[in-house]
Amino acid sequence: MNSHAADPVAIARDLLRCPSVTPAEGGALSIVESVLKGAGFSVHRMTFSEPGTADVENLYARIGTGAPHLMFAGHTDVVPPGDPKTWSHAPFSGDIDDGVLYGRGAVDMKGAIACKIAATLDYLAANGGKPRGSISFLIAGDEEGIAVNGTVKLLTWAAERGEKFDHCVLGEPGNVEALGDTVKLGRRGSQNGVLVVTGKQGHVAYPHRADNPVRGLVKLMSALMDEPLDAGSAKFDPSNLEFTSIDIGNPTVNLIPGEARARFNIRFNDCHSFASLKTLVEQRAAKAAAGLVRWRIDWEPSNADVFYTEPSPFTDVVIGAVAEVTGRKPKLSTSGGTSDARFIKDYCPVVEFGLIGTTMHATDERVPVADLVTLTKVYRRILEKYFG
Ligand SMILES: [Zn+2]
Repeated sequence: MNSHAADPVAIARDLLRCPSVTPAEGGALSIVESVLKGAGFSVHRMTFSEPGTADVENLYARIGTGAPHLMFAGHTDVVPPGDPKTWSHAPFSGDIDDGVLYGRGAVDMKGAIACKIAATLDYLAANGGKPRGSISFLIAGDEEGIAVNGTVKLLTWAAERGEKFDHCVLGEPGNVEALGDTVKLGRRGSQNGVLVVTGKQGHVAYPHRADNPVRGLVKLMSALMDEPLDAGSAKFDPSNLEFTSIDIGNPTVNLIPGEARARFNIRFNDCHSFASLKTLVEQRAAKAAAGLVRWRIDWEPSNADVFYTEPSPFTDVVIGAVAEVTGRKPKLSTSGGTSDARFIKDYCPVVEFGLIGTTMHATDERVPVADLVTLTKVYRRILEKYFG
């Protein structure tokens, strides 16, 4: 492994050949462990469990004992490849064709992990084998799943043993078209709910004896869709409530159902907390119901709170490194879905920068080898600027 220790392409190919579909480790963490151990990191492997979920393997590695402490976070698990026959190169082959590396996880996010490792090894080699503070890798095995046995438990485990993180760079693929066009400083929160309207079952030909809940459901849904939740904030796009399913489950043509449900998801910005968001939605439903519809909202538990990392000398380090290496002035973004940054933000400021996201979760997920080389230079520059 040490023969290509600081080569991001070789590390990425090794990682891509591991079929680490969530929750399987697939050999990926063992590769990370072996490379980091070879560079002098102390490496911990831990398996986390929770009733009703699959056990998940994770990794934490650190070199150095002092501050400042920079954490590189990421995940080695990947989404399933789908039908391998639809890929032009087998999804776990790590094939390179015409300067492009193919494989499930190439951009999300084994490629970025390989770049972080290569940059770190190169930095250590140039600095007598030790950082001026500490560098750690916090690598989860279930980011693409329900994310309960990965980063969230890794962070608790680390806190319990006294690990203090000053800053984190998470390697999610947030660039849109070109490497260096986007740095993510925040993400919206996510909350699921089910709107339930209760009526009275009856014969469809005798509606006066029944109370059709569909009428109330449609009224409340329309009220919740009509009015935006907010107009956006200085840092975020407007919040959005989207109905995803209407469920009555009535196979009978001559029966008025007793109950009707509609599922929805809200992506919310920093105008809201979980509590204020629920209050706002319930107030609007109550107003539309006007005391005439029997309704309730079943809120699902959510661990996806909104977060935003305020600009600081640390964000300047990342943004500056991106600009110096890529020649681009990155857009500071808060768009997209959730990431493990929602957990990390409770421990230290976190910025996201990785590869280009175009092919993530898609057939023929791939990354130009040139992007791996450039991203490694960005991480290398971050280390140099961060530790001064
Ligand atoms: Zn990811």
